[in-house]
Amino acid sequence: MAVLMTTLGPLRADQLGMILPHEHVFVDLRTCDKPGYAEAYAADVIKLMAPEIERARAAGVTAIVESSPVGVGRRADLDKAVSDATGFPIIVPTGIYREPWVPPWAHAADEDALYHWMLGELKGNIGGTGVQAGWIKLSVGDNGITPTEAKIVRAAARAAAAVNAVIGSHTIRGQVVREQVDLIERTGYSARRFIWIHTQAEPDFALHLEMGRRGCWIEYDNIGTPGTDDAHIQNILRLLEAGLGDRLLLSHDRGWYDPAQPNGGVPQPYTYLSEVFLPKLREAGVDEATIHLLTHTNPFNAFARE
Ligand SMILES: [Zn+2]
Repeated sequence: MAVLMTTLGPLRADQLGMILPHEHVFVDLRTCDKPGYAEAYAADVIKLMAPEIERARAAGVTAIVESSPVGVGRRADLDKAVSDATGFPIIVPTGIYREPWVPPWAHAADEDALYHWMLGELKGNIGGTGVQAGWIKLSVGDNGITPTEAKIVRAAARAAAAVNAVIGSHTIRGQVVREQVDLIERTGYSARRFIWIHTQAEPDFALHLEMGRRGCWIEYDNIGTPGTDDAHIQNILRLLEAGLGDRLLLSHDRGWYDPAQPNGGVPQPYTYLSEVFLPKLREAGVDEATIHLLTHTNPFNAFARE
């Protein structure tokens, strides 16, 4: 039976509804050598983010995928605190962001050590938090994969393959996605368990089609960015026409508590998809069954494992 590994334990598809596959509860985009990096009190994070979780829940959202890996302020304990305070499940990743956010210990570690670390978090829990990692989040450079990033991708492919986890990678250029999926397949894992995070950043739609046909998840995850709705709807209709509706994920890439800002900054709500975008998609002729596929079934299938 496929389950989603969440902060509230494993959940089945029949226990969940709409899932947002790419959001953030907590992020620090400074590198880890900066003073105060990734530091915050749980009470402050709860105070800022619990109301956003409640707004998402009121808009029909039943789970959120946290997309902050090691390197950009992953704090599974803070995700867990927000989750416990709201009774709302969050899916937390293992994995490491790209250079220059790769921490010194990960530069120093060899591929085997990184593999064992990621597998340990996917099978056990993240640093004594009691949170089992639900997926692997990575990133690679915009102009190609560095040797350190390649080491991390290979380790991730091996760890993900061991438990059928999905790998999502922040990748701006389609050409670099192709290289990454080549590397994952050479390491023995599958394009079908790879999410191209920020697909919309690649202007060449032919690459969206190519990677979707190859089996990758295509993720349009800046829904709600002003002025992008029409382009998103056009791309979604083209993917549906190409028979790739079961490869498509939609999210906002919003939130979050930012420790670099006073009091965590001003969070962006997780509600645009439900309240504004999906009604526009219906108006454009997308039927209810397809909306359900895109917002319920696909995110569950992408992140769930046996
Ligand atoms: Zn993000």
